[in-house]
Amino acid sequence: MKKTKIVCSIGPATQTWEKFKGLVEAGMNVARINFSHATLEERNLVEGLVERARKELGANLAILYDTKGPDLRTCSFVNDSIELVKGNLIRIVEEDLQGDGDGSQISFNYRNLVGKLEIGQEILLDDGFYKLIVVSKEEDGVTCEIQNTGIIKSRRGVCIPGIHLDVPYISEKDREDIEYACRMDGDYLAISFVNSAENVQEARDLCKQYGKPNMPIVSKVETQYAMDHLEEIVEASDYIMIARGDLGIETGVQNLPLYQQRMIDACHAKGKGVIMATQMMTSMKSNIRPTNAEVTDVSNAVLRGCDAIMTSEETTIGEYPVETVQMMSEIAINAEKIPTNHHKECRLLGTDIHNTIAKCAVEASKDLSLKAIVASTRSGKTAMDIASLRPNALIVATVIDEKVARLLALKWGVYTKVVHSLTTTDEIVDSGVKASKELLGLKEKDVVAIIGSYPANAHTNFLKIEEI
Ligand code: PEP
Repeated sequence: MKKTKIVCSIGPATQTWEKFKGLVEAGMNVARINFSHATLEERNLVEGLVERARKELGANLAILYDTKGPDLRTCSFVNDSIELVKGNLIRIVEEDLQGDGDGSQISFNYRNLVGKLEIGQEILLDDGFYKLIVVSKEEDGVTCEIQNTGIIKSRRGVCIPGIHLDVPYISEKDREDIEYACRMDGDYLAISFVNSAENVQEARDLCKQYGKPNMPIVSKVETQYAMDHLEEIVEASDYIMIARGDLGIETGVQNLPLYQQRMIDACHAKGKGVIMATQMMTSMKSNIRPTNAEVTDVSNAVLRGCDAIMTSEETTIGEYPVETVQMMSEIAINAEKIPTNHHKECRLLGTDIHNTIAKCAVEASKDLSLKAIVASTRSGKTAMDIASLRPNALIVATVIDEKVARLLALKWGVYTKVVHSLTTTDEIVDSGVKASKELLGLKEKDVVAIIGSYPANAHTNFLKIEEI
């Protein structure tokens, strides 16, 4: 069984039961609903599919809702698109042109920004496909020279490297979407274009206000500013998503390898989760097999101990979504067999009894080649502690609440079994052994460590090592 989890973005290509079921069977652990694209109808459709997969397939499938965030866009254009011609000039004005942008002038969806642009500034449009360079400044805007030819549609994304958007972090749309995620009892909330610990706290406060104080927050790092404030963002978050799409556009793709290493190291050092995202298997949008480079990229994310790898367009609009996830699972399983010392930097912070017990179990897994570390856990915390040390053994969590099982769906190496409330140490040990047999196919003579707490309301306080 793979230790690295798979997050699949769901879209038109995977909104039928047949395709969705295919994704679950291929190894999807978390379904991502992107508020930037999903209509209410589509959200409901996916939520229905998730519910069905939980019931009919017994899948411990979690939902991750992903906010749009304060993204910068062009205005709409008179005929819904404009032609950019290399060498021509185009103006960007401060005034909101709304639907009146045309080939001579456009505007952005935020005010008080154009005045900050200096001569020589690069402006990237439409996922970085088109480049403008500011050649002069005027009172009401700037004039830019177009660097490449093409057609751009209304309301496409804009990236201005080095410019920090000084706007309220949570827009009315994001607030409504966060309220929705809480109302729907989402399992994770990903927040886009995070720039500071304060932004993370704002999202947490809203979740608390909407009745979900423990909603795990996945901060998407996608700007240079966020990279410059990485430590505080990691500290404030539960997971970091390495959002390579926007990050690569803003900071230059040549910086991605360095930045992704820094993010993984920072998360491991603080015991936080990390998801590698975007363009992992892009060629499989239209090809039945990935490129060698993609296979190596996915393997590297696995070797570096990312909690999860993510699909984007491969599973939202691709022709081979199920094959993509099958391939990612196979790559993960193979990469996990490669001996690595990359996990040395993984830390479990804290010196309480439960932290020490988790560390002991991980040490034992090396000495005794344990097949599994089983944690009987009410909150999921003990299983997460063990996972943050990236042991060789798989982790089995016996939990009494389905919601806690889903909280562990994204966590590296953890498989869960929902059990009835356990009151004696014998019951905890027996149900742990049974769960590891069921989930991992363990058999007689396999050795497992079992961690739990007795009496039932205590924190984790015992470790037993047992030959099945
Ligand atoms: C990204 O930019 O890499 C990303 C994951 O963000 P989104 O898919 O929301 O644009």
